[in-house]
Amino acid sequence: MSIYDLVVIGGGPAGCAAAYMAGKLGFKTLLVEKSAHLGGAMTSGLVVPAMKSSDRKLNVRFYEDLISEMKSLGGQVTYQNNPGWFNPELLKIALDNMMAKTNVDVILNAYVAVINASDRTIKSIVIKSSVLLSSNYSIDGDKIDKDKDKLSVSIGTRYVVDATGNSEIFKKLGCKFLDTEEETQPFSLRFIMSGIDLKRFSEWLLEIDKNKEVTTVEEIDGVLHLSTACTWDKSRKWALYPIFRAGVANGLLKTADTNYFQVFTIPGMPSSLAFNCPRLVECNSTLTLDNITNALQEGRSTILRLSKFFKLYFPGFKNAFISNIADELGVRSSHRISGKYIYTMDDIISGKKFDRPVAASDYPIDVHSSDKDGSVLKKVKEYEIPIESLMSNEYDNLFAAGRNISADFMAQGAIRIQPTCFSMGEGIARYLASVIRVD
Ligand SMILES: Cc1cc2nc3c(=O)[nH]c(=O)nc-3n(C[C@H](O)[C@H](O)[C@H](O)COP(=O)(O)OP(=O)(O)OC[C@H]3O[C@@H](n4cnc5c(N)ncnc54)[C@H](O)[C@@H]3O)c2cc1C
Repeated sequence: MSIYDLVVIGGGPAGCAAAYMAGKLGFKTLLVEKSAHLGGAMTSGLVVPAMKSSDRKLNVRFYEDLISEMKSLGGQVTYQNNPGWFNPELLKIALDNMMAKTNVDVILNAYVAVINASDRTIKSIVIKSSVLLSSNYSIDGDKIDKDKDKLSVSIGTRYVVDATGNSEIFKKLGCKFLDTEEETQPFSLRFIMSGIDLKRFSEWLLEIDKNKEVTTVEEIDGVLHLSTACTWDKSRKWALYPIFRAGVANGLLKTADTNYFQVFTIPGMPSSLAFNCPRLVECNSTLTLDNITNALQEGRSTILRLSKFFKLYFPGFKNAFISNIADELGVRSSHRISGKYIYTMDDIISGKKFDRPVAASDYPIDVHSSDKDGSVLKKVKEYEIPIESLMSNEYDNLFAAGRNISADFMAQGAIRIQPTCFSMGEGIARYLASVIRVD
């Protein structure tokens, strides 16, 4: 049986950063991911760009190296002072490259089937392929025939990071959680359209949003970049709102389709736009099998409706087509662990300082609601997240990293953005380097 210093489960922003930095620091590291590629919501969910965070350089080495790797692939741009504008397809390759450079072992299309733990310690895990399950292989992993089963492997480990976004490992171990069924944010299903005349679209945007209230346009190295947004909330003067209302009046859109719309250009995809919508306010956002399936199907039919509307109402969209629909539903909230410290909204607002911070950010408390005018976007000053909010109460060698840490609902609305998740993952690797010896 191979023995690892660190096994990271889940290869999203937090898991990739944890594994990369652990490998860089000399730990024997394994990263296990259930999808066919790394990146989590950044790739499977088409969630780009990474949001702008504070300039404080606390555990930002992974992010800096990712920016360099993506730049070398032609998939990154710094736009409006934010270096996190990435191409989601090239991200998959960049993350493969980065794990190879730091000697991280990666297993894709796999999940943890069995966890062996005693005396508050995880001793070993069994990893199974999620691709070729046959009747010989039970999903619960309790019927593994060691001679025949080449689709599973037993791994010993000193430490485990649960970076699954939804605390799958903590759940398997029966740990305590903070979240309730009422504390959810609406799902979104993101998509990309290509074949767009961006010059024409941007000129039109600047005509209707003369004061650039919600639109940015900038040319970088001869390539046009832009962003704009529109919601049904009264918080801003949304230049596009009358256009969306016309779509409803003409029967092309449902009123709910006007609830949220945001677009960004994508480095390396010069005629494409990434859409941060539809936000599925009419779907039940409690995580159940039925709700997820329903939201995926609703999401795709809404994308079709929106794309027809854009082609008719947005100049530059005449030849546009849907080129990508996210593989995974965008899930903002999470199963939040009950860790050694429960990080709160008050900690964020007061900018509380901690002895061992793993991440620093000034990203607002950003909680989406299904109700009109119900969303919260509260600006805050810089705040720190302590390592104790990433530590399990029940197991001494288990950590959470990413959107599932021990935080209250409102605080989670701030700490879930990608740069903060990067820092949390990296922070765990650096913390371990300070407390354990690498043989
Ligand atoms: C609609 C939407 C829009 C957003 N917009 C932005 C934005 O513009 N900018 C920004 O910075 N952030 C944004 N976010 C937030 C951000 O993308 C996520 O909060 C962030 O990706 C969370 O990172 P994570 O590593 O905790 O989890 P995830 O990104 O969810 O990654 C978890 C990974 O674990 C894997 N996994 C799950 N279960 C298992 C298992 N059992 N075994 C193995 N692997 C497993 C998953 O496949 C996935 O790869 C948005 C989120 C959503 C949903």
